Amino acid sequence: MRYHIWTIGCQMNKADSDKLAAGLERLGLEEAACPEEADLVVLNTCSVRQHAEERAISKLGVLRKLKSRRNFTIAVMGCMVGPRTDDLRRRFPYVDVFTRPQEFDPILEAIGIDGEDVGGEFWPRTFSIPSGPTAYVPVVHGCDKFCSYCIVPYRRGRQRSRPIAEVKEEVEHFVGQGVREVTLLGQTVEAYGHDLPAGPDLADLLRALHDIDGLYRLRFLTSHPRDMADRILRAVAELPKVCQYFSLPVQSGDDGVLERMRRGYTVAEYRQKLDILRGLMPEAAVSTDVIVGFCGETEAEFRHTYDLLAELRFDKVHVAAYSPRPGTIAWRRLPDDVPREVKRERLRAVEELQARIAGEINSTLLGRTVEVLVEEEKGGRLGASARPLGGRTRSGKLVHFGGTHPEPVEGAHPGDLVDVVVERASPWSLQGRLAGAATPRMAGGQPAPERPAGLAAL
Ligand code: SAM
Ligand code: SF4
Repeated sequence: MRYHIWTIGCQMNKADSDKLAAGLERLGLEEAACPEEADLVVLNTCSVRQHAEERAISKLGVLRKLKSRRNFTIAVMGCMVGPRTDDLRRRFPYVDVFTRPQEFDPILEAIGIDGEDVGGEFWPRTFSIPSGPTAYVPVVHGCDKFCSYCIVPYRRGRQRSRPIAEVKEEVEHFVGQGVREVTLLGQTVEAYGHDLPAGPDLADLLRALHDIDGLYRLRFLTSHPRDMADRILRAVAELPKVCQYFSLPVQSGDDGVLERMRRGYTVAEYRQKLDILRGLMPEAAVSTDVIVGFCGETEAEFRHTYDLLAELRFDKVHVAAYSPRPGTIAWRRLPDDVPREVKRERLRAVEELQARIAGEINSTLLGRTVEVLVEEEKGGRLGASARPLGGRTRSGKLVHFGGTHPEPVEGAHPGDLVDVVVERASPWSLQGRLAGAATPRMAGGQPAPERPAGLAAL
């Protein structure tokens, strides 16, 4: 039997799909390159914005045509599936099974396998097969925050943290398979452990994973300003393998909008958190998320967001136009009254501002040497000694290098840590050449990054 999985959405969905694939392979199924060749097609969906849902619906249209010609099993998994599926069943009668995020058992049942025999909710011992030197590991499922615009808590449920031992086993598995960088995932990852009996926190988890031999880098996302405790920041600053990279969504720069969004903090509180973070780790990279055109957002309120982004100068901004999500608090109580064209203009304004800021930040790296974890090796045409390689810095910036310096490029492989001198910078990526020998700069498998300045700030 052959399977094909199509995934849309966040890193959590990607991790879920990888886990499902590993489980199916363990049961003897083989991956098919396209739906046409598969006996089981799984669509792992996203419903954070309407556009994501529309993509899944158009894919379902393709599968419907395919199914009229031959029989196969269609499963729809992920955030499009809520607790009640009557409406989905009515709209898509040709789909065999609808299943919520991480609920794999109904898919197995649909292909005649008893889920009881293969594990519980998260298949804790079904580890995915890494496709490179980086991997995602979900550590907190669900979310308890209920921001007024967001569908996630309704689809992924309440917060559930995985025990430290279970996460450690998964990270050790990945490292054993050649993974060198692990990103811990949670919608509010700094709330990790609040729901566990012994009450560990993210700092405890980072310390428990830090000493795994062969692991070079640890990251985590997404942070929520309310959960960002000093203890966690201190652990990030102290632990050399933990990258000083934060994804800290602000969503709006206006207190009235933040209140309507039910984010639970003010602009001043957000600014204060960021000040502490940057005081402790001046080199830290910070990205943020912003929604423009939220219910009732006036020109002045939008201006507050724009000005805040100009002031705080993030490394990256993920900006989205508000998209009402049926069932959420905003959808029930607040009119979606900002015209589509105004949302589009505000989105464009933020994108233009951020392109300028990111370009300026990246150009400060010109001539500097950055540590890059080699992630890709597009061998072939240029010959073995001049391969175009790429990877990311500790701050998550994409770096392309290779091709111009045949000698030093020789010997750089995915999974190596190398030094790259930055020669060109754009808002979206850097380009450079290897600074020296392309062998990992490791002492006994441990990276030796500079110690962050400002450690005394807390
Ligand atoms: N947990 C994170 C947080 O606290 O911001 C982010 C999770 S959310 C799934 C990812 C991003 O999607 C959010 O940061 C937000 O900017 C965007 N998003 C969520 N709901 C949205 C909506 N209804 N319309 C537009 N963007 C939305
Ligand atoms: Fe959604 Fe808010 Fe939870 Fe993030 S914190 S997943 S935006 S409810």
